[in-house]
Amino acid sequence: MEFRYTAEEEAFRKEVRDFLDRELPPGWLGIDPGPEEEYKPGMFEMASRMRRRLGEKGWIGITWPKEYGGQGASVWKQVIVLQELAYRGSPGCDAAVAQGDLILRFGTEEQKKRFLPPIARGEMKWTIGMSEPNAGTDTFNVQLKAVEEADGYVLNGQKIWSSDAQRAHYGMVYARTDANKHMGLSVFMVDMKSPGITMRPIVQTTGVAAFCEVFFDNVKVPKENLLGKKNGGIELLMFAFGAERTYGLFVIHNSKRYLEQLVQYCRETIVDGQPLAKNPLIRSRLAQLAIDIEVGINMGHEMSWLAASGQSTVAKSSQIKVHGGLLSQRLGNLGQQILGLYGPLDEESKWVALGGRIKHVYLSSLSFTIAGGTTETSKNHIAGREGLGLPKQL
Ligand SMILES: Cc1cc2nc3c(=O)[nH]c(=O)nc-3n(C[C@H](O)[C@H](O)[C@H](O)COP(=O)(O)OP(=O)(O)OC[C@H]3O[C@@H](n4cnc5c(N)ncnc54)[C@H](O)[C@@H]3O)c2cc1C
Repeated sequence: MEFRYTAEEEAFRKEVRDFLDRELPPGWLGIDPGPEEEYKPGMFEMASRMRRRLGEKGWIGITWPKEYGGQGASVWKQVIVLQELAYRGSPGCDAAVAQGDLILRFGTEEQKKRFLPPIARGEMKWTIGMSEPNAGTDTFNVQLKAVEEADGYVLNGQKIWSSDAQRAHYGMVYARTDANKHMGLSVFMVDMKSPGITMRPIVQTTGVAAFCEVFFDNVKVPKENLLGKKNGGIELLMFAFGAERTYGLFVIHNSKRYLEQLVQYCRETIVDGQPLAKNPLIRSRLAQLAIDIEVGINMGHEMSWLAASGQSTVAKSSQIKVHGGLLSQRLGNLGQQILGLYGPLDEESKWVALGGRIKHVYLSSLSFTIAGGTTETSKNHIAGREGLGLPKQL
């Protein structure tokens, strides 16, 4: 077993790091992986520029075949790009690549040629329309209806919690095309500017309104935008679940940088005549987080290896999802305790410590154990067929 990247991969990592040094503003404090913080003033323009720059480098959809805008590179190069982007808290990571993976796997030739190159160039944003008011964990309870007509499908119903829907060009929308609960779902690639779509943004605990309720009122979708087979959505859903749970890994790499910042803060901050770094309780808790992060990163390597060798990643990605979400909550908690009264201050305050990022993590990490499947759901996957092999719950 080789626990090292090759010399070529390490050289590639350096190229990515140098790129980020050049592209990110000096003193960049980072944002959460995903689109949420792109809704802060000025951030969307920066994120759009970064996506286009990443596209020019060929690093979005880097594993896709060249004819669809990719580089045909190894999974490991993709892992390196994602690790570095998440570690630096770079804008530009969003749902588009995962939707592109879905199109690559289930799309027709025409769909791949139409959608993958603009995603790879960093020009096309996507939203995921899976959840509904009564279909979260129980995703198969999707009620948004798609009725087939001569020239396409007509969609009626509602989605909720659709991240980035306000700015997305396309949505991957899970809809009901048959009454059969599990075998009656289909997936549509919907132009989010279609007549009949309206949205109502929802503000999160962080004060950012990055997700919405999305309403479909007689929305026409051409037949060529059905992804996969009619009533065959279950297969796509299973594939998409796996991709969503890898979000935990972004969170873990993002947390690594915050841990380093907290360590530095404890070295430099004197309380009662002693640096915080000498406090045995703080040292112990920082050490525990360092262990948690290292474990998570190694779990990520194992998951990437499973993916690269064509094996199921369901149980592993679920473990990472649980681990990443919970560790970032512990980090936010510990960070707030270390920073004391400076912790909860706003970014704009002259007294703010570490740019207010720890307060942000404290708040935003609440959603990390919900978004992309809750901790309980992930544990059910770990307990089930692909993990411990336990029978289904009651
Ligand atoms: C920041 C954020 C971004 C999101 N972005 C998107 C998006 O872009 N697109 C999208 O479609 N959705 C999105 N979601 C929605 C997300 O996928 C759902 O919130 C999630 O699947 C849980 O569904 P729910 O909120 O309906 O909770 P419910 O399913 O109602 O669950 C409520 C509680 O009951 C527990 N529970 C439910 N069933 C079981 C069970 N069988 N066993 C044990 N416990 C159970 C859950 O774990 C949870 O604690 C986002 C959510 C967040 C927080």
